[in-house]
Amino acid sequence: YPASTSRTPPSALHILEHVFGYPAFRGEQQAIVEHVAAGGDALVLMPTGGGKSLCYQIPALMRDGTAIVVSPLIALMQDQVSALVEAGVRAAFLNSSLDMDAARAVERALWDGELDLLYVAPERLMTPRFLDQLDHLRDTHRLALFAIDEAHCVSQWGHDFRPEYLQLSILPERYPSIPRIALTATADRQTREEIAERLNLTHARRFVSSFDRPNIRYTIVDKDDPRRQLLNFIREECPAQAGIVYCLSRRKVEETAAWLQEQGLNALPYHAGMTQEMRAEHQTRFLREDGLIMVATIAFGMGIDKPDVRFVAHLDLPRSIEGYYQETGRAGRDGLPAQAWMAWGAQDVVQQRRMIDESEASEEFKRLARNRLDVLVGLVEATTCRRQHLLAYFGEESGPCGNCDNCLNPPQTWDATEAARKALSCVYRTGQRYGAGHLIDVLRGELTDKVVERGHQDITTFGIGNELDEKRWRTVFRQLVARELVAVDHERYNALRLTDAARPLLRGEAEFHLRLERERERGKSRSKRR
Ligand code: ADP
Ligand code: ZN
Repeated sequence: YPASTSRTPPSALHILEHVFGYPAFRGEQQAIVEHVAAGGDALVLMPTGGGKSLCYQIPALMRDGTAIVVSPLIALMQDQVSALVEAGVRAAFLNSSLDMDAARAVERALWDGELDLLYVAPERLMTPRFLDQLDHLRDTHRLALFAIDEAHCVSQWGHDFRPEYLQLSILPERYPSIPRIALTATADRQTREEIAERLNLTHARRFVSSFDRPNIRYTIVDKDDPRRQLLNFIREECPAQAGIVYCLSRRKVEETAAWLQEQGLNALPYHAGMTQEMRAEHQTRFLREDGLIMVATIAFGMGIDKPDVRFVAHLDLPRSIEGYYQETGRAGRDGLPAQAWMAWGAQDVVQQRRMIDESEASEEFKRLARNRLDVLVGLVEATTCRRQHLLAYFGEESGPCGNCDNCLNPPQTWDATEAARKALSCVYRTGQRYGAGHLIDVLRGELTDKVVERGHQDITTFGIGNELDEKRWRTVFRQLVARELVAVDHERYNALRLTDAARPLLRGEAEFHLRLERERERGKSRSKRR
């Protein structure tokens, strides 16, 4: 893009057309671009594939000087920069993949004002050497803006926490007049507030796009004979289509891929234990060939831009709702109908809980991981619209979608109103200070050490719930959390407290229904126990 010497800067639309080759903006892109180009701060929440990059790339070209883009992923930086350079934009990156000479050359270009955009890793940005350079740019009025990509990395509660991101609050202190735009595709309400706070963007204008992917049909089935169920799903719903099958372990990836091949399907494995060449080859084949099925761990998918993936299947529970959303979001990027299919069983939850318990992480982190898992289980056990659940997680209200299994085939339910009321009143009577485990002990009248120690055998809710077993109670509590009738206090040992939304149920003005497990399943687990 020729550096403009004229006084009037090129318009956003002009740049969109002539540099990037697109005829029109998408969604809120134009509003964001104009806001930032005019010097405003912005916090942008937009799903993956929504088009976040242009939101800072175009203002970077509209404003004088160089835009600094903070990005945590070396691979993504390289992709972005190559694409920009190809489009004629003067872009470069600075990260640990460059040797000393290459890094010096980039620094010189920056100093000489030869860059429109510079992508930089956060730890590099914070070095005194780099900050000196930024000071020089500021003093010569050649700092266009700061873009902070993957802004959720600043959140300690998130799964991608990067401590260097915390230091980015230095930017508004040191460069108060330079506009900042923070962008992320994964942020529940809590994380959103945390981003705004930690990056000093509470005053920034927020642009929240819908996270809905209406062309994706969500289906979650009980695990029975998972491989066979997967095969039936593929044969009946998406024969000869490109898809991704996610498994938790490398071994299961290998076995599932081999088994699908035996069944005559065109499937390949992908996981971090394979050689670099093998992975690259399988990825290229997935992108180029029609109707290939990639059986993979979550190592696969980041930054893969294949628009016509027709299905994403999960043979194991993802780790969180965000994970599920990101992974299923790789289906149907072209906007045509696509499917997100998952088989899950209670055993998966047990397994993941054990993995959390046995991990080396801090207690605090484990608590969060357990909570994330519970919220996800809330989704798989839901009896109402899956999409509503998913969107509610991102703080978005919506009606039933008509394009998920629960909308299309409403499940059988049992009336858990009475149980839920007992649970809520137990939360209340014990002072809203305990987690589900202890509350269930109280409800079931278990004289555990903790119950006796706190004197909970003497409160009115002690022993009023022994008609349900522990597993059923777990379901009740999980759904109370999932539907936000109770809130979890992460900082106090996952203690539960009532929310305003619990009132109608406590007053007898609302009902509470839970999915009925299929008799076959329950019969099976009973006979196993014997
Ligand atoms: P995100 O960072 O939000 O995941 P990207 O910025 O990588 O999304 O954009 C996703 C894809 O959409 C890219 O291929 C990009 O070129 C394309 N895209 C973005 N904005 C537009 C637009 N206004 N018109 C057409 N394609 C667009
Ligand atoms: Zn629905």
